Amino acid sequence: MGAEKLRDVLEYYQDLGFTSLYRRTVQLEATMPKSTTSRETQSESALFELPGLAPADDSLQNIREDIGDCKRCRLHQGRHTIVFGSGNEQAKLVFVGEGPGADEDVQGLPFVGRAGQLLTQMIEGTAKREGIPLERKDVYICNVVKCRPPENRTPEPDEMEICGQFLFRQLSVIRPKAICALGATAARALLGRKEGVTRLRGNWYKWRDLPLMVTYHPSYLLRPYNQNAKREAWEDLKKALHFVYD
Ligand code: URA
Repeated sequence: MGAEKLRDVLEYYQDLGFTSLYRRTVQLEATMPKSTTSRETQSESALFELPGLAPADDSLQNIREDIGDCKRCRLHQGRHTIVFGSGNEQAKLVFVGEGPGADEDVQGLPFVGRAGQLLTQMIEGTAKREGIPLERKDVYICNVVKCRPPENRTPEPDEMEICGQFLFRQLSVIRPKAICALGATAARALLGRKEGVTRLRGNWYKWRDLPLMVTYHPSYLLRPYNQNAKREAWEDLKKALHFVYD
């Protein structure tokens, strides 16, 4: 493996949250996504029991196929539907939430419940006010975990790690001009930062080489005592929209 490829591999695993690695020679079949094994020889050495690397010619369809009827973590036990993501597959802006809620679990689409309606209103209302011709269907929306956590609890670190590999592949395939992380879970998954959103919001960060803005999760904004945060979220979105579409 050349130095550049090795650096890419290490960055990929670092994004997944691995801070130290050791090498062993193993059969690749067990660890690679299905779409990769067909293109790789099995005699190469691999990093033992780590998630498979994203195939070079990855696509959203490949990723969905690799997820399959996923039972990799406990969240599959209570889900009805895997909520992969929806919107424009070549979107310039991607929104990342936490995980499906009850409505999303039934419909198989992200952000279709009350929080979703608010998100749609925020995107389309802000765009309209700013003179940017943009509808919800023009962006891409997905979540850190693809199955509904029971009682809408926050996803556990291992669930985020397991499902995060698919989120990272989605972002790598779409390569938007910017990402908007909605809430603390998305910020933690993409930036590895544990600070609250109040601290992180409104600023630009990077996920790999892609600019990333953190803002409040729409569910948080639905609570009546968070009206100040609503104003701030609108400001954050305005900033992100101008960055992407000006
Ligand atoms: N909350 C999320 O984080 N994602 C959804 O898809 C819906 C609600």
